[in-house]
Amino acid sequence: MEKEVLLSVKEIKKWFPVDDKLIGKPTSFVKAVDGVSFDVYRGEVLGLVGESGCGKTTISRSILGLTKPTSGSIVFEGKELTAMKKRELRKMRSDLQIVFQDPYSSLSPRMRIGETIAEPMEIQKMGNRKERRKKVEELLEIVGLEKGFADRYPHEFSGGQRQRIGIARVLAADPKFMICDEPVSALDVSVRSQILNLLLELKRDFGLTMLFISHDLSVVEYICDRIIVMYLGKVMEIAKRDDLYRNPLHPYTQALLSAIPVPDPKARKERILLEGDTPSPLNPPEGCRFCTRCAKAQELCRTQAPELKEVEDGHFVACHLI
Ligand code: SF4
Repeated sequence: MEKEVLLSVKEIKKWFPVDDKLIGKPTSFVKAVDGVSFDVYRGEVLGLVGESGCGKTTISRSILGLTKPTSGSIVFEGKELTAMKKRELRKMRSDLQIVFQDPYSSLSPRMRIGETIAEPMEIQKMGNRKERRKKVEELLEIVGLEKGFADRYPHEFSGGQRQRIGIARVLAADPKFMICDEPVSALDVSVRSQILNLLLELKRDFGLTMLFISHDLSVVEYICDRIIVMYLGKVMEIAKRDDLYRNPLHPYTQALLSAIPVPDPKARKERILLEGDTPSPLNPPEGCRFCTRCAKAQELCRTQAPELKEVEDGHFVACHLI
């Protein structure tokens, strides 16, 4: 069956100008995202992974309309988001929601949980007060909390419970697409799997589509259907989960996967250590972005950027050697 594209990102770039203090004009640019394309299919969880500073968060902010891309296109259900005025974007806001990383700072300490969850419904003018209260109680139960918690304040809850409250608030807007920005990285290991299972239940029960941003490849393996690996503002590899973990093709993906801890010592793979630091996005390498740290780099890699090519069904790689 043909998959339906819900969101399509084409060649987006986000360059932040850096002003020269002497002449008061930008003379260089931080190339946070530099020509990234991908589709998100309806009903899937698409992972976006890479080290910090690779452009993951800039992409999510561009999709949500919180930052305007320098160029490129973002189409959601056939509508071009980058061309929308603020008012039009506000109308779309309920369809596109985000679960934040930090459940401590994402909830207002002065608002009761019920008010926090009901707020998106009030903004969208959904139902009357009584109907909203009923929906709040239903949502609390959906995310595994008691409906009586609606009258309590955030400080009365643990990190995992607060993340559940954050998710209930997102669901209140009845979204079609959810961005989960490192939603479990601030939580204790013991509650991470509970939140991941909750997200998987929501995907199954409500057909939610998610873009799941993380630097943790074991978390991504657990929850995602397909995965995009990014490095320094560019896509290195896109593949279905099993293809990526069984047969990583890009040297950067191979290095990332070799660093995942494995409990069985016999199953342990040799770790590929990356030399040096990630170069600055202010002055990225000219050819392949990964060439300064790649053990397989050749002369061509330093002068020519490899294109992202489909090498197997749904498996895309940007490397001259593949
Ligand atoms: Fe390494 Fe060259 Fe492939 Fe880049 S193009 S990942 S530098 S081998």
